[in-house]
Amino acid sequence: MNTNLKIFNTLKRKKEDFEPINPPFVGMYVCGPTVYSDVHLGNCRTFISFDLIYRYLLHLGYKVRYVRNITDAGHLEGDRDEGDDKFAKKAKLEQLEPMEIVQKYTLGFHHVMRKFNTLSPSIEPSATGHISEQIEMIKEIIANGYAYEKNGTVYFDVEKYNKDYSYGQLTNRKLEELLEGTRELSGQDEKKGRLDFALWINAKPETLMKWPSPWGWGFPGWHIECSAMSTKYLGEMFDIHGGGMDLQATHHTNEIAQSQACNQTAPVKYWMHTNMLTVNGVRMSKSAGNGFLPEELFTGNHPLLEKGYSPMVVRFFMAQSHYRSTLDFSNEALQTAEKWYYKLMKAGQILNKLKTQDKSSVNIEELKNNCYEAMNDDFNSPVLISHLFEAVRIINSINDGKESISQNDLDVLKSLYKTFVYDVLGLTNEDIPSASNDLTTELINLILNLRMEAKKNKDFATSDKIRNELTAKGVIIKDTKDGFEWELAD
Ligand code: AMP
Ligand code: ZN
Repeated sequence: MNTNLKIFNTLKRKKEDFEPINPPFVGMYVCGPTVYSDVHLGNCRTFISFDLIYRYLLHLGYKVRYVRNITDAGHLEGDRDEGDDKFAKKAKLEQLEPMEIVQKYTLGFHHVMRKFNTLSPSIEPSATGHISEQIEMIKEIIANGYAYEKNGTVYFDVEKYNKDYSYGQLTNRKLEELLEGTRELSGQDEKKGRLDFALWINAKPETLMKWPSPWGWGFPGWHIECSAMSTKYLGEMFDIHGGGMDLQATHHTNEIAQSQACNQTAPVKYWMHTNMLTVNGVRMSKSAGNGFLPEELFTGNHPLLEKGYSPMVVRFFMAQSHYRSTLDFSNEALQTAEKWYYKLMKAGQILNKLKTQDKSSVNIEELKNNCYEAMNDDFNSPVLISHLFEAVRIINSINDGKESISQNDLDVLKSLYKTFVYDVLGLTNEDIPSASNDLTTELINLILNLRMEAKKNKDFATSDKIRNELTAKGVIIKDTKDGFEWELAD
């Protein structure tokens, strides 16, 4: 299967030809949400980016098993297993069972993902549903000599591992550099090395979510769940592993170490990372408190927002930047995205009514190649969108009679629009405003024709009344030499 697809592999720090291990099958694992609170728009950006990637792989004909996990246990506040358990803390705060918290925010997450028209993953495993797999993996890592137990907690021995493998390979950093950035161990620390991280954490009497294990009652560390679940569903080595860039240095670095230490093979062929959604240049995060909830964006109910934007406008806004570039959130950018999104949708409607001629004056094959070239270049959605606007220009020009298209080319153009606008970018046209709704257009034309008649009959009272009332409803009317023109106010 030769698809010419190139993917930027974080591990190799370069673009590589995509060659799945077992074509046409592709195993893809994406780190999912931690469901102790609502997902913010930054999280959504990562999941929408991988939805676009998933959609394009499916379009190319790959049989993708897409696994996106739900983190519902073992997530402590610090990256390095320090602080309170986020689920237990939230459960106490909301006076709910931890599993009620998990259920509430998982349902909320699914609701948001549906609004953004993302496809469901093939498997959505949860950490709490895979405790025994995690325990088995930890036992194997201990047996292989890369982990040790201290008072019911099991630590991964990073320095020992680094003697045999390269621990910092994903971020291209040496162990010495990593050690420099970590605090010294105190006399109270149980772990041997500064970079050692917990695979299993001993439960305190007050710990709410805990399970029995060979090391006593406890709960898994955050990183082990992804190693255990990806191995279970995709095998010891699989094609693509994704997540946000913020996960590279710790979570994914530790995942590689755990899987390698357990299975004695590098787990992933292509590591892919999405860049961050920022607000005034600062990464959107739960802890920074600058997170927008998707619902706030849809309704416009947020102090920083001038108005609401539909999920499809937001999805289009995100696709306008490449998944590896940062994307800064602003009212102006969203307003512009809204205008362009409507143009794209409007052209899609005109496309269905275009009249054909014997010959084409436009080059649709070239346009199609350009679209594939853009997506084959590491899923370059902004470049794809620029080609789709060339399609919009062509469609409008044919509609205005300035260009012509043959039946054959029209079929190609229609299928290109369906493929890239709807199937790959995942846009739907349900949000298109009423100006482009045929019935509304016809009714406004009808009323304005009645106004022309009234004017002709010198019934200026009726003519003015129609004008004033339509203006009040947001219809901007311009009288012209031949009659009238109108548009809806923004
Ligand atoms: P979390 O629920 O915090 O574990 O995050 C879920 C996913 O969202 C992870 O893949 C993160 O890397 C990603 N993520 C978190 N913040 C942002 C952001 N501001 N922009 C893009 N992705 C993010
Ligand atoms: Zn993960």
